[in-house]
Amino acid sequence: RVKMEERLARGETVVDEKSGEAINIEKLREHSRRAYLKKREERELKLLQRSLQDEDELFQGARLTAVEQKQLAIKKQILNMARARTEKEDLSDGFYRLPDELNSKQAKADQDKALLTSRYLEPTKEKSEQELWEESQTAKAAALTHAKRKANITDKHEYELVFEDQIDFVMQETKKGYDRRKKKVDSIEDKDVSKPERPQFMTEHEKILAGRKKLPVYPYREEFLAAVKAHQVLILVGETGSGKTTQIPQYLHEIGYSELGKIGCTQPRRVAAMSVAARVAQEMDVKLGHEVGYSIRFEDCTSPQTKILYLTDGKLLREILNEPDLASYSCMVVDEAHERTLHTDILFGLLKDIVRFRKDLKLIVSSATLDAEKFSKYFDGASIFMIPGRMFPVEIYYTKSPEADYVDAAVITVLQIHVTQPLDGDILVFLTGQEEIETAAEILLQRSRNLGSRIAELLVCPIYANLPSEQQAKIFEPTPKGARKVVLATNIAETSLTINGICYVIDTGFNKQKSYHARSGMESLVVTPISQAAANQRSGRAGRTQPGKCFRLFTSFSFQNELEPNTVPEILRTNMANVVLMLKSLGINDLLHFDFMDRPPADALIRALEQLYALGALNDRGELTKLGRRMAEFPLDPMLSKAVIASEKYKCTSEILSMVAMLSLGSSVFYRPKEKAVHADTARLNFARGGGGDHVALLRCYRDWVASDYNQTWCFENYVQVRSMKKARDIREQLEGLCERVEIDNSVSCNDDEMDQVLKSVTSGFFYNIAKLGRTGEYQTVKQKKTVYIHPGSVLAKEESPPTWLVYFELAFTTKEYMRQVAPIQPGWLVEIAPHYYQECD
Ligand code: ADP
Ligand code: MG
Repeated sequence: RVKMEERLARGETVVDEKSGEAINIEKLREHSRRAYLKKREERELKLLQRSLQDEDELFQGARLTAVEQKQLAIKKQILNMARARTEKEDLSDGFYRLPDELNSKQAKADQDKALLTSRYLEPTKEKSEQELWEESQTAKAAALTHAKRKANITDKHEYELVFEDQIDFVMQETKKGYDRRKKKVDSIEDKDVSKPERPQFMTEHEKILAGRKKLPVYPYREEFLAAVKAHQVLILVGETGSGKTTQIPQYLHEIGYSELGKIGCTQPRRVAAMSVAARVAQEMDVKLGHEVGYSIRFEDCTSPQTKILYLTDGKLLREILNEPDLASYSCMVVDEAHERTLHTDILFGLLKDIVRFRKDLKLIVSSATLDAEKFSKYFDGASIFMIPGRMFPVEIYYTKSPEADYVDAAVITVLQIHVTQPLDGDILVFLTGQEEIETAAEILLQRSRNLGSRIAELLVCPIYANLPSEQQAKIFEPTPKGARKVVLATNIAETSLTINGICYVIDTGFNKQKSYHARSGMESLVVTPISQAAANQRSGRAGRTQPGKCFRLFTSFSFQNELEPNTVPEILRTNMANVVLMLKSLGINDLLHFDFMDRPPADALIRALEQLYALGALNDRGELTKLGRRMAEFPLDPMLSKAVIASEKYKCTSEILSMVAMLSLGSSVFYRPKEKAVHADTARLNFARGGGGDHVALLRCYRDWVASDYNQTWCFENYVQVRSMKKARDIREQLEGLCERVEIDNSVSCNDDEMDQVLKSVTSGFFYNIAKLGRTGEYQTVKQKKTVYIHPGSVLAKEESPPTWLVYFELAFTTKEYMRQVAPIQPGWLVEIAPHYYQECD
């Protein structure tokens, strides 16, 4: 088919061999779409069949409740209908010709869709008095400015005058909308929408409760709970935004599971865990941290009365170390399973085992994609519960030619949309990380400030992992009338968070991924093209509440030919050392036979074992050593844990703890406002005076802050983020506690002139990450001989005589392979500290 498309693109005539008719591109596309649909239908049919068989077996001889009977009957009915349909439709004859019956069916479907669409467009509810009043007030207020603006924003000609550059898009396809809801859903929703009870007097909380009832999952509450009752393991599938994350744990709580134990819900991302917990606490009208809490690495917002707990998948792994049977939980929801993070994948293996001997533990694996079959198969054919959903059509636009700078292109597209499209639709932009988001936000603010009242107000809301929670909440606030919201987000908005009111999606086509080269043992964060599946998921975010548009900042050709169909699970592209250490300390020794959903490459496993062996965490038989056992206590990368434990020997534990806490923050310690860049740089370099590179600079920064008595003004004066420092203090306190557990005296401290002791401890953990300055003036990693550069944000970046030997904290690949956080070392230390690794080193 691809070949045919290429020939058509070259302008050749293509003829179907069977029928002799000419083929055009539409026909070609339609055919492959149908073939795909048929395949999918067959797959769904198979799934349904299997889940029915299961149920038949399960219910044999059991007395069914009314709900269960109904559920079974409905499923059987669907199965029969589907069977009849698949038998009738045979696509095998002719290449592109569709059976007449199908054609008419298509016409009927179009008709239905038109009806549906027109219904959606109609105002579905009468306006309440209050709303009318609010509207008239806003109208009055806006009248003046509106009159001024009107002339400016309407025509394209004016637009071209306003911006010198713009991007050409071609509309390539429309992703069809659909409505997979059953009849009863409509009736419930219609009732809710058209006749809200006492709308004028609804309190904020009542509004939230009414909102809960409108979520797609709501009509299936009883059926879902019945399914949980009937099955120990359940796969839950539903579109993003259907209410899986926020509602399912509440349903389980409401029906009483929380009396038997906590209800846990895992999230791959810290931000999502926090934000969702806050939302659910609000819905339940309780204080966050009481009945509803969250728990992420280094931060625990729970109490003994916590019933619903949102936690990261990594955190749950840690909990399993202390509570191998998860005895304090009655239900566990593994959410966003489709993301297949490393931790989620490992959890699958462990949970599969736990549910075997804890028959009372309910396990729900929740996923946003329709590819539930794989999960079901892995969990011994577990039943699948599907939440029917609805999606409005989304028009997909591609750029005509590739864009050189996607951040810039994204900014231009935002303004282009803002000026040319109706105001009642917010914009969601996918970027890859904090730095990019901040840059884009800055440019957007700048440009819209310059345009002043010539354009409507643009509210710029960033969202990424390190953003303070008050600001995170901002993205959910409804957009005021007369303004447009633009959310600049990382991958987190792809499935974890749903923002209402989004109508336009701008997809840069990239995200930041960990990439690991097992052979060389090099791991780095790399900006990578996303998969086709991810691009489709992103575009879907535009069609949740009304028809939308998605602007892809890449060409249609690159979508078809350059993007992988699916995202590779993290376990296949990461350093496994961390996980291997954890599994070893759980007593799982035979890693090659661990029940992985996707087996990691043997290379990566062996590499991890080697690394742990080199660090001294494993002995030559692959068993955990005493050192390894102590290392596993720390929720840190094994290299950092090793540095902490080595500090005992080098008598500088207090220093190492501060430094490790600061390193764990990522790059968010110093800030650098553009207008005061020189001051900020001077302040930062001050910490580096006296040597020791970034590591010791971070240490001095922390120490001086403590000496200032945690003073805020000190932070402002030194261009240091208060919030980050507070976080570092929290982390440090927890590390202190863990040191006590492994019997390390955390108060041992060295003198200012003994910073070499500190750097030796660092080197004990990081002797893999050593680079040497070559004659060419470039650094090369010692073992892999790869050319690397000092990150421009480092205190050593502008050093006139850079040190010959460096230890680096991590690699980040952007335009070049950069070393982030570097410190000078003596080559002699390597032989002293890691003789097994550097014996032949000169
Ligand atoms: P799913 O997990 O199926 O993707 P969610 O349970 O996350 O769905 O979301 C259900 C609804 O709750 C969405 O419409 C979303 O906008 C809303 N929601 C989630 N978090 C918040 C929040 N912090 N503030 C306001 N609304 C929220
Ligand atoms: Mg969710």
